[in-house]
Amino acid sequence: MEFHDGPYVERHASDIAQPQTSHYPFTPMPLPYAYDALEPKIDALTMHLHHDKHYTTYVNNLNAALKDHPKFHNWTLEQLIIHGKRLPTSIQTAVSRNAGGVFNHQFFFEGMLGGAHNSHLHNSTVGAHIIRPSALIQQFKDELKKNALAVFGSGYAWLCQNHRGEMCVITTANQDTPLTLGMQPLLCIDVWEHAYYLKHYNNRSDYFDDWFSLV
Ligand code: MN
Repeated sequence: MEFHDGPYVERHASDIAQPQTSHYPFTPMPLPYAYDALEPKIDALTMHLHHDKHYTTYVNNLNAALKDHPKFHNWTLEQLIIHGKRLPTSIQTAVSRNAGGVFNHQFFFEGMLGGAHNSHLHNSTVGAHIIRPSALIQQFKDELKKNALAVFGSGYAWLCQNHRGEMCVITTANQDTPLTLGMQPLLCIDVWEHAYYLKHYNNRSDYFDDWFSLV
């Protein structure tokens, strides 16, 4: 879904802090803030489970899928995602799902950095670079929220920059990423239930509002 671009975003995608890239064997990115740094918006137990269990499992499964394929051990996470069709068919699905899971979670965790207590990196997040007027912020929030609530099952809602440099709001299913659509992600919200169920139960709308206040 197209989100009308306006003067309120002043930076290009390349200016935004990117998730770390590396190659096999991938190691879990440490959470860039304390587990309770997003309280009370997002609870520490959810962050523990989300980072240490869900995210780390994607890292481990990605390594397992690549283990016997040394030819691809120097590929970055982004290369594995974007050029997944060049991989042996026997591991394409596993790599796609798990590399996407790693990328999406790193992007999601880093996106909340500016909302963390004691964050020294407020200026590195997208939100800090969205210029007022507040009416446009509200319009953007409404558009992103509409998309986030419309994700059926598990997935993500994203603010992206497309190949023409225009801002757009999209959704992806499961662990699909905007990279395979040729888009540069700027911000995402994980709407898998594991991201919010402990605190918000099935209330994705309240979870969205709490998340938005962090970014
Ligand atoms: Mn998740």
